[in-house]
Amino acid sequence: MIKPISETRALFKLEELRDSFTKMIRERYEAKAKPCDLCDSPGKCCQDEHYVNVRITRLEARAIGAAIQDLPSELIERVRDRTTRAISTFKLDQADANELKTFACPLFEAGIGCLVHNIAKPLPCIVHACYERREDLPPDELLENAESRIARLNARVYGDRSLPCPIPVAIRNWSRFISY
Ligand code: SF4
Ligand code: SF4
Repeated sequence: MIKPISETRALFKLEELRDSFTKMIRERYEAKAKPCDLCDSPGKCCQDEHYVNVRITRLEARAIGAAIQDLPSELIERVRDRTTRAISTFKLDQADANELKTFACPLFEAGIGCLVHNIAKPLPCIVHACYERREDLPPDELLENAESRIARLNARVYGDRSLPCPIPVAIRNWSRFISY
């Protein structure tokens, strides 16, 4: 039996979880990775349509929606356009639940970077960095455990119906800043 929780309370818990996860990754692992400030093409990882395959829950999409809603209107419009384009270009609506489709992330803005960097960044993006040595990477279980906790929170708010979706589909379906 799942104990229900309000969306507001779940968003607060999600923020706490994300903050402590970010702190742990920064303190224990990030120093061993290449600093993004030194990247020859910052954000190429976010725009690589053959690489990004991040899926998020409805709850995470709501957090992203709240963050985007606070941006200037022209920026919101650009995110909306990129989202629509990504869904159609990479046929993300046609992905079956087990297929990890890849896409260029619509939340990346040239000259700014990830638009949800400090407030609603998905956990796989928090973990991602360019490590030279495989043994320096954060163990997979850290991400798996944290994602399971988010999945449980999501289920407590919405039930089991909303499985994680590719970022563009999730923000189109569940974020209020995009209305189709
Ligand atoms: S994670 Fe790697 S590719 Fe992405 S911006 Fe940082 S250094 Fe560049
Ligand atoms: S959510 Fe942010 S960090 Fe993750 S792929 Fe998109 S732009 Fe990059």
